[in-house]
Amino acid sequence: MKKTVRDIDVAGKKVLVRCDFNVPMQDGKITDDIRIRSALPTIRYLIEQQAKVILMSHMGRPKGEPKPEYTLKPVADRLAELLEMEVKFIPSPTVVDAEVEAAAAELQGGQVMLLENTRYRKEETKNEEPFTGELAKLGEIFVNDAFGTAHRAHCSTAGLASYMPAVSGFLIEKEVKFLGDAVEDPERPFVAIMGGAKVGDKIPVIENLMKKVDCLIIGGGMSYTFFKAMGYEIGKSILDEESIGLAKELMEKAEAAGVELLLPLDTVCAEEFSNDSRQAIFDRDQIPADMMGMDIGPKTISLYTETLKKAKTIVWNGPCGVFEMPAFAEGTKAIAAALAESGAVTVIGGGDSAAAVEQFGFADKMTHISTGGGASLEFLEGKELPGIACLEDK
Ligand code: ADP
Ligand code: MG
Repeated sequence: MKKTVRDIDVAGKKVLVRCDFNVPMQDGKITDDIRIRSALPTIRYLIEQQAKVILMSHMGRPKGEPKPEYTLKPVADRLAELLEMEVKFIPSPTVVDAEVEAAAAELQGGQVMLLENTRYRKEETKNEEPFTGELAKLGEIFVNDAFGTAHRAHCSTAGLASYMPAVSGFLIEKEVKFLGDAVEDPERPFVAIMGGAKVGDKIPVIENLMKKVDCLIIGGGMSYTFFKAMGYEIGKSILDEESIGLAKELMEKAEAAGVELLLPLDTVCAEEFSNDSRQAIFDRDQIPADMMGMDIGPKTISLYTETLKKAKTIVWNGPCGVFEMPAFAEGTKAIAAALAESGAVTVIGGGDSAAAVEQFGFADKMTHISTGGGASLEFLEGKELPGIACLEDK
């Protein structure tokens, strides 16, 4: 267990907090502030404790240079509105300079300042000096609350931990609790659903989960690589050619480990990769040469939803079809609904899977939707994330 802000005395201390304020922007305006609002519990807690709060984040990819279109000024303004208080912001092209140092030194307990985009500095993504040391001079305690970048060792996500006591904020605490408990200490039966486009991307996750689950369900574009490995014709379906051998190995590993591996029984096929294409349903060994698999079929939906009803823990990563096209969203929608109704602990990892659950209106029915796309995948792979590993143990 990692220490959190609750486990350390922050009153009157200068606390450097790494947040994920990497919000979508259009014409200098924030188009979705969910990431800012998600950071508020940790910030409010620190304010209540009379800490001197110094916030840090990256936004976009300014590639180590100060680029005005990536300034965090709009984030400072939005934060000030949400917190209903002043958020000091100095638009320093070097992130830290004499003016920033003076402002940090003058902060009073309960006051908040935000630094400029950490990726204005080329050292940031390489976790190099002198930037880490410059940041470190500003504070006395490091709080990491940016799960989305926790799989990267950057100055502001991991480097700072070698200078001062380091603990997690509430967002990282929640991610570690739900992702960690689901995988390491699941109530059984434990079922994982893996989908998405390519098997290649997900092999390490599948291999790790295979050691833990009772049942592994495969859906989405990766199914066709498994079908190919089974010797079926897959027509124009998406194929991850290099992973055919791996798919075969995974099937053998599942058998050897006594893990139930479920593959689609039937598939909704289309002539073109288009919402308006003519479509038809085929059993998995009957896919016509001139069509492509776009979604799981009705037999598969009933097999999968029946299995999910019995589960006590469900981890889901990767949509079961091309859910962005309404004509091929039924399978993904049915799986989302099955999770919502399952009564199991349900954990969603992966950007597109999270988007699908939101889009179909089931978000508030899930136990936990991870906010970190790449980070949640690395977590499910069983990797130690540098932004979490660097924090103090309880
Ligand atoms: P996540 O972001 O949740 O980890 P991925 O990025 O791995 O998920 O996969 C999501 C993508 O997979 C979606 O864009 C979806 O359209 C695509 N996909 C799902 N099924 C198919 C399919 N049968 N053919 C092509 N693409 C598919
Ligand atoms: Mg994705």
